[in-house]
Amino acid sequence: MGRAVELAARVRSGEVRAADVVEGYLSAIDAREAEVHAFNLVLAEAARERAAAIDAVAASGGDPGPLAGVPVALKDNLCTRGVPTTCSSKILDGWRPPYDATVVERLAAAGAVVVGKTNLDEFAMGSSTENSAFGPTRNPLDVSRVPGGSSGGSAAAVAAGFAEVSLGSDTGGSIRQPAALCGVVGVKPTYGAVSRHGLVAFASSLDQIGPFANDVADAALLLESIAGHDPGDSTSIPEAFPSLDASLTAGVEGVRIGRISDLPAGADADVEARLEAAFEALAAAGAEIVDVEVPAFTYGLTAYYLIAPAEASSNLARYDGVRFGLRVDAADTNAMYTATRSAGFGDEVQRRIMLGTYALSAGYYDAYYGKALKVRRLIADDFARAYERCDVMLTPASPSVAFPFGSKTADPFAMYLCDTYTIPSNLAGHPAMSVPFGSGADDLPVGVQVLAPALGEPVMFQVAAELERRAS
Ligand code: GLN
Repeated sequence: MGRAVELAARVRSGEVRAADVVEGYLSAIDAREAEVHAFNLVLAEAARERAAAIDAVAASGGDPGPLAGVPVALKDNLCTRGVPTTCSSKILDGWRPPYDATVVERLAAAGAVVVGKTNLDEFAMGSSTENSAFGPTRNPLDVSRVPGGSSGGSAAAVAAGFAEVSLGSDTGGSIRQPAALCGVVGVKPTYGAVSRHGLVAFASSLDQIGPFANDVADAALLLESIAGHDPGDSTSIPEAFPSLDASLTAGVEGVRIGRISDLPAGADADVEARLEAAFEALAAAGAEIVDVEVPAFTYGLTAYYLIAPAEASSNLARYDGVRFGLRVDAADTNAMYTATRSAGFGDEVQRRIMLGTYALSAGYYDAYYGKALKVRRLIADDFARAYERCDVMLTPASPSVAFPFGSKTADPFAMYLCDTYTIPSNLAGHPAMSVPFGSGADDLPVGVQVLAPALGEPVMFQVAAELERRAS
């Protein structure tokens, strides 16, 4: 049973008070948050009030829900009504959303207790949380190293015990890579499985919200709580989300695990060794290891760094000093736009806006954006062919364990290479998750990534649960 699952069961039965649970997590935050900086905002009073309300429901014989009293942290690009939502950018300074994201509503309905809004790379652009306008988050396992990104605060919050579970967003790997670097479970669901209503958009055709948790069962519970159709998101899948319950104990007898023979090189030897160990562990558990080819996998990175900036340049046009947050006054409207955007956006966000605007400009559209869309199609076709022969595929989640601060900030391309193994699932719209599977260099955690076809979450969790059982 997952830790959050158990906690909720005890709060529901009245055996434990949500108020006491929340105090425990708030003390953990008090003890170490100054060092880790997982949060942009800690919501201690709101969490206490919420916990008291949940205890009142349980005391009166009602059911506060499957996540009763479970402390959750929210990436600060998820809208929370009346509560600042910054995307770790100066441009949203002072903005308070007038509504809750659908996932926030669903967590509340399930009885979860929000303890705070977590730090991220500005507008979710980055792989280390060093691009936050409010300073970096540190990896709780080694504070001289990054927690990964862009959902670094959400991963660190769970790893540090500041929250039992958290939500992040994943456009090119931003849940799976920080999960790997912080030694927790991180899931990017099938595109459309979880509503994006109230997620501040980065690249709308790629963005998905997903869970971080200490174990696979908790990740499943959290995902089931937030998934399902939402008329507020036109890309939301109308069919009911499949149950993951049976997957957690099914084992992997006869499951076909794909090993990508033409996977792009670039993973460190310690990470490669853990991936190899994962194949061996699954084979020992009765799975069948199958060699597959995904030739277009290697082009994912370049296609992504055209498509994602192109969509970002359009999405971020709305921050102009008129409707949201920061406004820097100037002589005329155009000068005001320029002054606001120059002061409000950090370097990486400005770089993406310029890249995207260029890729979409007349004369270059076909050569860059159009070509990237063709690569996206090839990746989907290659995946479809591979999945005729296997049920899931395994790759590293991140090419390396957590790296030291500053080691990739001088070279944006070195940072982009962190996403080599995670991006193709976003381009295809497929689910993928990172599961801790032992440690690599300097005793730091390594995450193995399980990839599955669209709505293949049940088999993906089946394999993840087996990896977890065999991780030690
Ligand atoms: N690191 C990738 C980027 O910078 C992915 C970010 C994400 O998934 N939000 O774009």
